This record gives sequence, structure tokens and C-alpha cells, in this order.
Amino acid sequence: PTPSAIRPNSNAARDIAAALHPYTDLVAHQQIGPVVITRGEGVRVWDDAGKSYIEAMAGLWCASLGFSNQRLVEAAVAQMRRLPFYHSFSAKSHEPLIELAEMLLARAPVPMSKVFFANSGSEANDSVVKMVWYFNNALGRPQKKKLIGRVKGYHGITTASASLTGIPTNHRSFDVPLAGFIHTLCPHHYRFGEAGESEEAFATRCAEELEKLILAEGPETVAAMWAEPIMGAGGVIVPPATYFEKIQPVLRKYDVLLVADEVICGFWRTGNYWGSQTYGIQPDILTCAKALSASYLPISAVLVNDRVFQGLAQESHRIGTFGHGFTYSGHPVPAAVAVETLKLYDELGIGEHVRRVGPYMQDGLRRRFADHELVGEVRGTGLIGAIELAEDKATHKPFDPARKIGPRLAKLSEANGVISRAMVDVLAFSPPLIITEAEIDEMLDNFGRALDQLA
Ligand code: PLP
Repeated sequence: PTPSAIRPNSNAARDIAAALHPYTDLVAHQQIGPVVITRGEGVRVWDDAGKSYIEAMAGLWCASLGFSNQRLVEAAVAQMRRLPFYHSFSAKSHEPLIELAEMLLARAPVPMSKVFFANSGSEANDSVVKMVWYFNNALGRPQKKKLIGRVKGYHGITTASASLTGIPTNHRSFDVPLAGFIHTLCPHHYRFGEAGESEEAFATRCAEELEKLILAEGPETVAAMWAEPIMGAGGVIVPPATYFEKIQPVLRKYDVLLVADEVICGFWRTGNYWGSQTYGIQPDILTCAKALSASYLPISAVLVNDRVFQGLAQESHRIGTFGHGFTYSGHPVPAAVAVETLKLYDELGIGEHVRRVGPYMQDGLRRRFADHELVGEVRGTGLIGAIELAEDKATHKPFDPARKIGPRLAKLSEANGVISRAMVDVLAFSPPLIITEAEIDEMLDNFGRALDQLA
């Protein structure tokens, strides 16, 4: 809408007057206003003017079962009637928390020992930062505290998780990263591979750079490394062949814990239950959120292996308590919704479905867009994919970010009834896992129309 199109007392006018939006140019917003979404059904949402959209991002990579699953609604209502709140401090517990912890351990990609609950991906990763420090204090090595993230990695926006994040937008003007948070090479072969360098050779170089960084810092000072199986917000960056195979021995050599951030990749997104399974990752600690509850209510989880748990347990016993936790850690209502979500993944055969429609989406993205004059790379696996725009297909030269080509394409896509997400000049697709082949065709047809309009 143009400023004149914003009617007094409309939702848009009221939003402009009252709301401070995440990830928004707050000055431009005063002129442009929001798109106000009022309802959802299946993979679609509607705005307050009645226009419908395919939610090609499942919101924020998260509404895995779409926008109208009544089983999840009923699970929330039933739990609210029975016990709308209880906490888990000081050895109190409740049934939804216990059941969810058991279900996560039973589904973990590697043997895990215990589950801690928080309310968001950021809080889960922030909690792990403190757990890692606590763990190394328990082991009597208080100097082993530095934490490694990756350039373009995204782990959230609390002070510690934003410090792990490697995206300039999340650092600029916020005075993060904090000291002791360091970043290693982004494993994006298309952007950072050298001319003629194979994916395998690039992966070797990534592992060598990681080892150099650990040695330069001093291995006795480096505690843990975070990695998303596929980097989401950094631009759907798929690791090059052999990447995790090569970096994990480096971490083991210097006793650096590996934290798999499965906030996007967890729960079938990449075609396996966990991204860790897709890429051969054996994490010591795993964080998840988003699709854990299909995003109907906020909840996140941290899974720790027995070695980490034993360290935390001994330290808590020595000093009297594990002094960490949120009022809403394992809140019974989101926990009950998460239990129902995990049951639905099993009952609906979401895994088999993603293994069928994921390759269909990947093939559609490549077949329709890989040769397009504005497209540099098409990438992804399962039901997560992206196209990266490039000014020069041969040299991979990107567009000048000031031209805002990506955000313009996202707007055109919206006008064509598809909500994608632009991360600079990368347009992402991470639809609800229930999407059908017909809906994928409709999504890609309409997005393709937007891409042609941009050309
Ligand atoms: N980790 C990853 C991989 C994410 O994609 C996100 C959010 O997109 C987060 C952590 C942070 O989660 P939240 O926004 O729930 O704090």
C-alpha cells in the first residue's frame, strides 16, 4: 500500500501507530505499513483484504503442519482445562514435560541422556552456551570457554545466541558478538569455493581453517562449535560433500563439543527426522524448536549426551543447584501440543511424504529456475530450498545489495500469491511439510511469474 492507501483506523494504521517490528526498517514501515494476516488453512494464509497466499516459508520455517490442524488445537485446549500452568523448578514436574522428553530421547539421532526445555531457539542456544561453560568449570578447566560459530550461521538473537550468529545484520549497532565468540569459514561452495576447487577440496579447506583457528586461539581455550546441518537464515546453505565428515575429527581431536542447531532442520525438513542424519553429524548437544510444536505454541528443547549431563549433574551437586531455567521451561500447554505434533508426524507418515514431495520440489526449482538469466544457484534438499540471484551467471558476481533485488522479488512473489523470504539475494522455500505436489506446482508457477516480472 502507498501511504495514501493506509486508511485511518485500519489494521495497518493501528499497527504503524503501535507496533515495533522485528527485522523491519522501522522508518520505512511508517510509510509502507504491514501485511496483516488474519487466518490460515492448510498451506495458505489470508490477509485482511481477503487475498490468499501460499505460505512457502511455513511462516518462519516453522508451521510444519500448516495453519489449521485441529488435533493440535484440541491438545492445547485439553491441557489448558486439565493443568494450564505448572513449572519444573526445584524438582517439580508434570506429565506433558515427561512424555515430551521421553519422545525426544527416543527419536534423537545419536544416544542422548536428558532434555532441557526453553521457549525459543534463541533461548535454547543461549542455555547451551551457559551449559558448556558450566560443564567446563565442572571438569576443572575454567579457561576452556571460547565458542565457535560460522560466518552466515544463525542461532538466534539473545545476547549469547546473537554472538554465535555470524550474520552482520544481527551484529551491526547491537555491540555483539561478545568477546570469546569466534567465527569460522562459511561452507558455501558456490560463494566461497575457489575457481576449479571441488566440493570435497573446499570441505578439506574448511576443516583446515577450523583447525588453524582452534590452534591460533589455543585448543585449551576452545569449548564448543555450533552448526546448523543446512544453514537457514544465512541463505539455505547446503554443506559441501564430506564437510561434516572432515570437521568432526578436528573437533574431537581438541575436545571441542559439537552443538547441532536443528531449529530449522529438525523434524523431517531435510527428508530425515534430523538434519544430523542427512549429513552424518554426531552432536554432543542438539537444540530444536519451531516444528517441535508445529509452531502452534512456543517451545524449544536442548538434548545433551550423557557425558555432558554427568558434568552438569556433578557441578550442580557440588554447588547445590543447576541455577538455570525459565518460568516457562516445559510449560504444559506447549509441551502437550509438541507431544501431539510428534505423534502426528508418526501417524501421518510425514517422513514418507517429505521423501516423496521433497525431491519433487527440488526438481521443480532446478527445472524451472536454474537456467533463468537472473539465477546463479538453485540449492536445497527435502522441503528446504532456495534460489540465489546473481548479476553474472558465469562469474557468480552478486547484484549490488543496494539495488535490493531479492527483497523486490519477494514483494513481487507476494503480489503473485506466494510468501517467500529474501535473505539479501537468496529467496527461500520451506513450505509446510504437508504441502502436496499440486500445491508445489502452484507455488512455483506463481513464483516463476514474479521472477519473469523482475527480469
Ligand atoms: N537457530 C536457528 C537455526 C534458527 O533458524 C532460528 C530462528 O530462525 C533460531 C535458532 C532462533 O530461534 P528463535 O527465533 O525461536 O529464537
